[in-house]
Amino acid sequence: MEEKVSGIVVGGVNYGENDKILSVFTLEQGVVSAKIKGVKKAGAKLKFVAEPFCFAQIIFSKTGKMRTVINASLIDSFYPLRTDLTRYFCGGTVVEYVKKFVKESILSPDLFILTANTLKQLAYGDLAPEGVLVDFLIKALAFSGYALKSDGCFTCNKPIPDRVYFDYVYGGFFCEDCKTQDCREINPDTYLTIQECEKGNIPNSLSAVKPLRLLDYYMKAKADVNLKSLGELLAMSK
Ligand SMILES: [Zn+2]
Repeated sequence: MEEKVSGIVVGGVNYGENDKILSVFTLEQGVVSAKIKGVKKAGAKLKFVAEPFCFAQIIFSKTGKMRTVINASLIDSFYPLRTDLTRYFCGGTVVEYVKKFVKESILSPDLFILTANTLKQLAYGDLAPEGVLVDFLIKALAFSGYALKSDGCFTCNKPIPDRVYFDYVYGGFFCEDCKTQDCREINPDTYLTIQECEKGNIPNSLSAVKPLRLLDYYMKAKADVNLKSLGELLAMSK
């Protein structure tokens, strides 16, 4: 049986001497695994499919549960992501997010479109890549059931005047009067940047760093997910 999908390659491991098993985020079927044969040989026709961030129309042959890539035509390689370290780690965070948060074969068309648009913006856009990543993570976490609630205090709903507290259990921000035992105080600018981002104002490189640290902490504490590329990006921003 053959299947034709639109897919973004989000990971791959070596298999045998020349083959790979790819993780492909598809519009039609969610994340699936597929073997690709002979791809490590010089001059392999489908070598491009195994490159990170490859976005392609892919044809699988399917035997039982096992898929094999038999043909593909490139939609976009998002090549500039491979020429700049910041863009590379931002793109890496996006595909790692998909790999860790999207369960095998669960359809996520909204997240697929967000992922494709984000990689395009990171590769070719004028906005700060770190800011684009903040925007991606806030939206993606909402699709994954981990939405942040940033429009006022989580408990009393009032605007938070000066000191701001964050509780990862609720994914919420609190005022001083309502803060919980598990809250940690955060920089008010971090909170404002997240609020502005949710209104569509993408932060610049400098103001994106603290929100990225908060999102990193939130994903680790709440979902037990550590995105290595995000760690690399944050290590570069010290
Ligand atoms: Zn309150």
